[in-house]
Amino acid sequence: MAVSVDVHRGMEVAESLHHAFSTVGIHGHNDMPEDLLPAGVDRGSPDHVAFVTLTVSIDYQRNASALWESARRTFEDSDSRYLFDFRALHETPLSKVVADMQRHQLSRKPKKDALTWRAIGVTFFEKWQGDPVAFLQDCGWEAPCVLERLGSDKHLEAGRLASDFPYLKGPKIGPLWLRMLRDNVSIDRLRHLERVPIPVDVHIARATLAVGVVRGSYSGSLGELFGTIRKAWFESVRGLRVGQREMIALDMDEPLWHLSRYGCTNRHKQTGQCPLLPTCEAREFASRVASAWRARTLRWTRDVAPVGAKVIVTPPVRNLRSSYRSSGMPQPMIPGSQP
Ligand code: SF4
Repeated sequence: MAVSVDVHRGMEVAESLHHAFSTVGIHGHNDMPEDLLPAGVDRGSPDHVAFVTLTVSIDYQRNASALWESARRTFEDSDSRYLFDFRALHETPLSKVVADMQRHQLSRKPKKDALTWRAIGVTFFEKWQGDPVAFLQDCGWEAPCVLERLGSDKHLEAGRLASDFPYLKGPKIGPLWLRMLRDNVSIDRLRHLERVPIPVDVHIARATLAVGVVRGSYSGSLGELFGTIRKAWFESVRGLRVGQREMIALDMDEPLWHLSRYGCTNRHKQTGQCPLLPTCEAREFASRVASAWRARTLRWTRDVAPVGAKVIVTPPVRNLRSSYRSSGMPQPMIPGSQP
């Protein structure tokens, strides 16, 4: 794998995109799918904590906007509202949870999502008095400890040890949950969030490659680059500031997600051309990047691409045209370098 991290560019991108996201937005947006609360729920309330905690636990390999909209409708429906009540989840048979999670398309994989949802609800009811904040407190408000305990806490189930926090413990969802607790629920007591990696999903990966913070020559699954992408953002934000505090890797989650969701996702699947280049907040960096995805090895969908999809991060600009000419492949656009 011949990929490298351009920390200098990462710092420039971090400053520029974070500023754009905090002011004018990126591609006209600065709202996240999870920002809108169900009717009647107060920000920071126990209901809000439950809403965020349970919904984020099934936020994988699906359209996030549709997921959070379904969660809001499920919460607002008096017949399915109980799905956000830890005690009720504990007392309700799995078959009913499976059925009710489908009323507003909250579950995409009916049995699997319901098992995850209910297991997390039962954990918080049985071990943490129905209050995720009690779990955070037991971790001493230390974010690294929270991530560790999400992975290590277990219970006996049918004679076997089972995870207390299926999927919530994952390398994307655990950090995402912590970011939402800070940014959405306004829990400000969490410490050492600077040690929490950026929650890498296909959007974060796509945007990171598009602006050239990770680049080089590589053929393999996109998922294998996730570790490099986490490292890239840890290093890129070092020494930068957001107002009165230091910038951390988690701060780049929303700007990069927006860049990809409303921007890079629109690149032409075959040519790599991006119709949004002239107005892109990251055009300065995109124009210096020789990144392209070969359509024949990628199957991007509009919002979600399989983590196992093949990705090729192409060589530097000066080599790109000749390498494509010699390979006979259709030549991708190098943003900003067209005559
Ligand atoms: S120009 Fe297009 S592909 Fe490049 S960073 Fe901007 S939105 Fe993404």
